[in-house]
Amino acid sequence: MAVRVKCNRCESTATIHSSSEESEFVKKLYCTCNNPKCGHSFVMDLTFSNTLSPSALDFPEGFIDKLMSSTQMEQKKIFSALSPAS
Ligand SMILES: [Zn+2]
Repeated sequence: MAVRVKCNRCESTATIHSSSEESEFVKKLYCTCNNPKCGHSFVMDLTFSNTLSPSALDFPEGFIDKLMSSTQMEQKKIFSALSPAS
């Protein structure tokens, strides 16, 4: 899904014409409003918020194989063990 940006001045769709990477977790998106009567150009910050499910890169070796060969019930158990208790 493409990222849609709205102009905060007139609520029209804006186009992201470039972006710059400020850091590992922050990107700046340079946007211009598509409304010819507005033409507002602005910068949006895109920041990393939080992880929803862990990256497969963070799993120990052999974990994926184990996961693939386990049943859905077992997978649920594995994932509930991974996520921190809230
Ligand atoms: Zn606008």
